[in-house]
Amino acid sequence: MIISQMEKPPFRFLARMLCIVTLLMALFTGSALLAGKGAYAASIQGRQGVTAPRVSGASGALTGPHSAATTPGAQVITGGRTDLPWVALTFDDGPNPTYTPQILQVLAANNAHATFFEIGQLVQSNPGLARLVVQNGNVIGNHTWDHPSLTTLTPAAQASELIRASTAIENVTGMTPTLFRPPYGATNAQVEAVAAAQQMATVLWSVDTADWQLPGVQRIVTAALNGAHNGSIIMMHDGGGNRSQTVAALSQIIKGLQARGYALVTVPELVSGTL
Ligand SMILES: [Zn+2]
Repeated sequence: MIISQMEKPPFRFLARMLCIVTLLMALFTGSALLAGKGAYAASIQGRQGVTAPRVSGASGALTGPHSAATTPGAQVITGGRTDLPWVALTFDDGPNPTYTPQILQVLAANNAHATFFEIGQLVQSNPGLARLVVQNGNVIGNHTWDHPSLTTLTPAAQASELIRASTAIENVTGMTPTLFRPPYGATNAQVEAVAAAQQMATVLWSVDTADWQLPGVQRIVTAALNGAHNGSIIMMHDGGGNRSQTVAALSQIIKGLQARGYALVTVPELVSGTL
């Protein structure tokens, strides 16, 4: 066990670096090296977002309105299946010693699961919280190492941000992130390609509660309930500032969504349609 823990991270780091080198070669040479690789063919695509997986018959490849021609292998998710009454709550910028435990408590008390897009350096400094998130049946996604606007960085710096965060999450939880959310929603084909090279889909959202603006508990609740539809991804925050309004709103949001017939699932469940 100890040996495997010591060996795994360097191996994965090396594997990731190889992916990045390959990606950069493809980008710089303009070759279609990755176009046919289909590492992510297993689930949809489209720069404008995904609503429901669409599988083409013969090859089994999944297609989207702007598929691999725009971003080889990249997947951008803004929602899940629209044929199921499922909604995904997402929390960004944690883990936070004050608010993350409170949010986990409300989720557990209401039989709900969520997806947490965590900052790598905070995972490293709060390992117990990150483990608690996973132990409670929630999913952790990559929200970079220290929350820069990735579109202002070089591809190498973008890759480093994602690799450092995923490595921290793996070391602490034993889980490898497959989802990535860009800070500030600042993304483009380059960012999405870097994420794809690390086997991560880029996850945005369809409902913004604007909880970080501290608009008041009722406005956060109303934004979530009014915005929710089948397959919605609702964005909130468990870190990055005072999140007492978010915590206070959460119970009402969950109860309100459940009263409308929605199940609260993780993003992978929302996209796949399987629990
Ligand atoms: Zn953020």
